[in-house]
Amino acid sequence: MESLTSGPLYKNVMESLDHAASIINCDPNVLVRLRQPRRAMIFSIPVRMDDYKVKVFTGYRVQYSSSLGPFKGGIRYHQDVNLSEVAGLAALMTFKTSLLNLPLGGAKGGVRVNPGELSRTEKQSLTRRFTTELGPFIGPQEDIPAPDMGTDAQTMAWMMDTYSQQKGFAQPGVVTGKPVDIGGSLGRVSSTGHGVIHVADRACQFRKMEFKDCTVAIQGFGNVGQHAADLAYQKGAKVIAVSDVSGGLFNGDGLDIPELIKYVNEQKVVKGFPGAQVISNDELLELEVDVLAPCALDGVINEHNMKDIKAKIVVEGANGPTTKKAADYLAAQNTLIVPDILANGGGVIVSYFEWVQDVQNYYWDIEQVEHNMKKTILKAFDRVATFAEEEKVDFRSAAMAVSVRHLEKAMLLRGLYPR
Ligand code: NAD
Repeated sequence: MESLTSGPLYKNVMESLDHAASIINCDPNVLVRLRQPRRAMIFSIPVRMDDYKVKVFTGYRVQYSSSLGPFKGGIRYHQDVNLSEVAGLAALMTFKTSLLNLPLGGAKGGVRVNPGELSRTEKQSLTRRFTTELGPFIGPQEDIPAPDMGTDAQTMAWMMDTYSQQKGFAQPGVVTGKPVDIGGSLGRVSSTGHGVIHVADRACQFRKMEFKDCTVAIQGFGNVGQHAADLAYQKGAKVIAVSDVSGGLFNGDGLDIPELIKYVNEQKVVKGFPGAQVISNDELLELEVDVLAPCALDGVINEHNMKDIKAKIVVEGANGPTTKKAADYLAAQNTLIVPDILANGGGVIVSYFEWVQDVQNYYWDIEQVEHNMKKTILKAFDRVATFAEEEKVDFRSAAMAVSVRHLEKAMLLRGLYPR
């Protein structure tokens, strides 16, 4: 049997939880419950492949906490997915929804498969069978999946359709991140990247800097990085460097982001964009900029390069881009690190709005979505900033502490069943 708690990610999250719990003097009877998921499931998913042979894939769903509302969290398709990683990510979702004050719990799911090796038909069969296996455990009031690495809006459309077929009527509220035509929300696609920049702007104010006068470097030019760059450009900041898997671009006068987005839509990568100097991903991270937004991979700011990071503010668009050691070092150097559970929360906030729209059958316009997302993420920022100042702790510890304090209150109010 696979171990639930032995993976590095799970251990990291528990380390942050223990630290936050000690800051707020968390009730030990709450902490002991928060250190374990409520439920962890392993599924066998048989799929008939295109050559007509059957392959059995392994799927997971970890429902970590529902103290604040229905379970909520993405579904990842990746060849390295394992039970402990899914459990760690489910724990992180729990802390993220709590920090953002959303009436949702935390969950995560995944299938151990390389999605790049599946045909569209195979991916659809896998998704539909996995949804069928998940059927008794998910639902608009129970557990609401969403896309993650290796899954997308189309995957959510298949999940929603499979679940609805089995119920006998349309159930758009069972998943979020769907295409707009079948109950998705306007503004979901840009939400994470825009949230990153709202938070970066507020972090500048906190540091008595003007965002419009800032220089910005962004690692990753996918969904999060592109929308972050776009909003930073619209707000008048100078985006002087971006990068992706093909390498990086630098222009001290600021890159023409709308032109770069057009270029990437056609060429798929930033490499070859005219009017910029080529730099490496490592060089991008070490640039002297006001704001650095790592929006690609985890662990990119670590003990090897932490002494070379010169940004005044790091806004974590990706999940886990800064290791704990590097974060502690940079905090001691007075670098403001806005942690992932806050900085990339725009996505789950708009997922929550999508769910609200689905269950009410009443859809919002883009202005309403964007206005409410900004309001929600900035309120969370302010709660974290106030806690950090009052308790004299770094933002990362403060974000976890604010989250755990909210969960603790809810758990104590609800009590333990049966006694
Ligand atoms: P994406 O697949 O759309 O984009 C990823 C980007 O990273 C691409 O530009 C890719 O070229 C680049 N990249 C890949 N390998 C790289 C490397 N070795 N060096 C530099 N760049 C590299 O993914 P995304 O949705 O933008 O997600 C990015 C990060 O944000 C992930 O950590 C993800 O978990 C996190 N995140 C995403 C969302 C969301 O709503 N999409 C929400 C919360 C967190």
